Amino acid sequence: MEFDESHYRTGYLVERGFVRRRCRVCGKHFWTLDPNRDTCNEAPCVPYDFIGRPPTSRSYSLDDMRDAFIGFFEERGHAPIAPYPVVPRWRRDLFLVSASIVDFQPHVTSGLMEPPANPLVVSQPCIRLVDVDKVGLTLGRHMTVFEMGGAHAFNFPGREVYWKDRTVELCSEFLERLGVKEEEVVYKEGVWSGGGNAGPCFEVNVRGLEVATLVFMSYRVTDGELEELPVRTVDTGYGIERFTWLSNGTPTAFEVVYADVIPKASELLGRYEVDREFLMRYGRYSAWIQPGGTVTVSEARRRAAELAGVSLEDVLEELQALERFYASLDYSKSIAFILSEGVVPSNAKVGYLARLLIRRLYRTLAYLNAQDRVLDLLDLQLRHWGRRFRQLLEAREDVLELVDYEVRRFAETLEKGTQQLERMLRELKARGGAVTTETMIKLYDERGLPPDLVREVAGRLGVKVEAPENVQEIVAAMHLTESQRQEQQDPREGRARALIKGLPATERLYYQDQYRTEFEARVLAAADGMVVLDATCFYPEGGGQVADTGTIYHSRGECKVVDVQSYDGVIVHFVDGLLPSPGEVVRGSVDRERRFSIMRHHTATHILIGTVRRVLGRHAWQMGARKEERRARLDVSHHKPLTPEDVAKIERVANEVVAKRLPVEVRWYDRHEAERLFGFTLYQGGEAPAGQVRVVNIQGWDAEACGGTHCANTSEVGFIKVIGTEKIADGVVRIEFAAGPAALEYVQSKISELEGRAERSEKAEREISTFAEKLFRSMEAEDPTDPARHLEYVRAHYSAAARYWFSFRKYQKEEDVEGVRVIFDFTRSRNELLIEEMLQQVSTLQFPAVVLLIRSVDDRLEFRASLNRQALNLSLSPAELAQRMSGWRGDVRVEASERGLRGEVTGTKVGELYSAFTDAIRSLRRR
Ligand SMILES: [Zn+2]
Ligand SMILES: [Zn+2]
Repeated sequence: MEFDESHYRTGYLVERGFVRRRCRVCGKHFWTLDPNRDTCNEAPCVPYDFIGRPPTSRSYSLDDMRDAFIGFFEERGHAPIAPYPVVPRWRRDLFLVSASIVDFQPHVTSGLMEPPANPLVVSQPCIRLVDVDKVGLTLGRHMTVFEMGGAHAFNFPGREVYWKDRTVELCSEFLERLGVKEEEVVYKEGVWSGGGNAGPCFEVNVRGLEVATLVFMSYRVTDGELEELPVRTVDTGYGIERFTWLSNGTPTAFEVVYADVIPKASELLGRYEVDREFLMRYGRYSAWIQPGGTVTVSEARRRAAELAGVSLEDVLEELQALERFYASLDYSKSIAFILSEGVVPSNAKVGYLARLLIRRLYRTLAYLNAQDRVLDLLDLQLRHWGRRFRQLLEAREDVLELVDYEVRRFAETLEKGTQQLERMLRELKARGGAVTTETMIKLYDERGLPPDLVREVAGRLGVKVEAPENVQEIVAAMHLTESQRQEQQDPREGRARALIKGLPATERLYYQDQYRTEFEARVLAAADGMVVLDATCFYPEGGGQVADTGTIYHSRGECKVVDVQSYDGVIVHFVDGLLPSPGEVVRGSVDRERRFSIMRHHTATHILIGTVRRVLGRHAWQMGARKEERRARLDVSHHKPLTPEDVAKIERVANEVVAKRLPVEVRWYDRHEAERLFGFTLYQGGEAPAGQVRVVNIQGWDAEACGGTHCANTSEVGFIKVIGTEKIADGVVRIEFAAGPAALEYVQSKISELEGRAERSEKAEREISTFAEKLFRSMEAEDPTDPARHLEYVRAHYSAAARYWFSFRKYQKEEDVEGVRVIFDFTRSRNELLIEEMLQQVSTLQFPAVVLLIRSVDDRLEFRASLNRQALNLSLSPAELAQRMSGWRGDVRVEASERGLRGEVTGTKVGELYSAFTDAIRSLRRR
């Protein structure tokens, strides 16, 4: 693709006296004020002339430069907007925001939606992994994370904001504001394309450094043909880091971008320095360092050193260490941004990329002998960048836990995998084979062994490697976009589409009143087991909610609705039985109980999404959901299987939300307004269509873009019971649950399953059963205005949770100690009410028993125990137990009560504390 001169000949450049020239090195055209200039002013056609010689009137910090950029465009009528997340949940085709324009694709740039402001300016954090192997090596040309200053204008038909002239003028004025003379600036002609769009662009070069790109997005590319877009978008990207670097003229960009991080990072990772004189000279030629393909890193380095007239020999080791130090700063910052937005490292999608970066960081630090500093470094980055990007601070603990878990697993993988790798490579050598790119990708994807490790081991064993040095970049590139999913086509769709041709969109009565199940409507088409009406209460399958069923009554009889689907807004009822005649008015009746049960499950799903985010952490995002009549399931991102404590807590919190009777509000919002009010967690269910979004808002708990039918108040959900949980993929757990009467049914069937188990007394079973029944009936009967009932209700839930924990043996272990049953659990709960209820459970047993609960608080272990009457009758006294416990170690603090004891101890493990406790019982029983 190429554009001729007319696309670049802008009034502003011509008026100012710019002339068009051709670069003698790369052959590209450019515009300059200097008629004698014969290069495009971009490295590597020229060296980085700004190093040691910044063209600006002063040097800027990153913060200052960002403010200068935003301030400048704000003064010129651009509305500053808050940056978007780096994970674009509003679209399905991309995993990371790689440019500011991504914020407005696809709906704004295609003309379907208004932008949040016009023109606007944003400093958008972006993540690009295509150069992951080059970070550090190139001293600042490549970073995986950077801020793109975007000044955007959207020219809708008949509403022109500004186009090429003004765009170039603004850029020129901004450079002038920084003190850069116009004679220094070169506008180099280029072609931009991406995301199916294209247009001419100018690369803006100053003293060798490309600091901005001015794109005039004006075409859609279909099969290589250019078609004019209705909306012409000014898409400018000003590299905030690059401008900062330019204004400092330092040999590396890292030292200015991370100026405030480096002192502390050096304390953690060690100090890395290279002779300044060497760096100043070598840095000027760093754009020549372009490893990849057949060019090795050492060749690329040598090339730059040669041009700079310096010798690498004496400094190579120090230089490598410095490059790695810088790379680790960049990787850890990227990880902090990605994970703070609710991404769990995994084998799929954005989780895959997060994992790749974490592993890369770990390996990079390993070369510096600092792999045990991963968490400290992350913490440093979270705190530093969190000053400006609050989400990093808010997610800090969550991110650190995820990284900790991931790093431990990776260390194990390496430990186990390295030996296997050695064996494999020895065999390969014996066969005279070589390590290929494919082998490396396979070893990484299947065994988690990173390419640099494979290369290192192969080198040690003398095995040939036939792969470029940037295999990690190849791996990353393969995972940057969503692979085209083969969506299975419904065989009925063809028939349905033929039937609905030319029909208007169906009026969706289920949105006007979600409780309405009876309606009248006119038949627009009926044939082949399908009926289309002008309006309907039948909900078509969508957003994980199953279709309604019911009956259509008409002049000739009736037909059963067995499935409902929507095709481009026209709703098709698939029916069994006699078909109505087109044109007649029929009566529709949705299966009421079934629909209401589905609604409870859908609202319960939203309650649970809000719950898992609070219980498991902000990384817990919906990965999938299905809401049916008797069951629902919710898949969420989480790094490890759920523990019984997690489940108990999720149930408790979810049922508290039910009890709080929060209103469930459904409203249509302007999309930007919705994003501003509720944030990007709106898109839990995936990207939303263009235009207005329907927001289901459980007040103060959870808000989502959702097309489903919902209860008007959380109390209508009744009761939420988790049926099972399962890790269904790396980084994804599935929660199956039931709500309302379906939950009660589940509890009852579970109880009858347990019948016949000798050790469980009939009485206990009856109790659970009547309890669940009572709970449900009381919910049905309760007076929503009575606060006392409300408290009682919440307490009943704790009791139910504790009973569930006890009856279904959700605790760690139980064992017989000299005729006393010791029931033990390690709990995370800090909920005193719940703990009390758990301790209470011991009294339901008919033989001597003790419940022991241990929890860790900061660096100490707290323990609580309660004895039942039968145990006390064996003359096991809490006071004597306490005495034995305090004799165990000097630092045990313990006090006894009538029926139990509580205490705490430091510097020991749960297992040791447990043994000490059972030993105490043993010795009391044996005396
Ligand atoms: Zn050139
Ligand atoms: Zn929903």
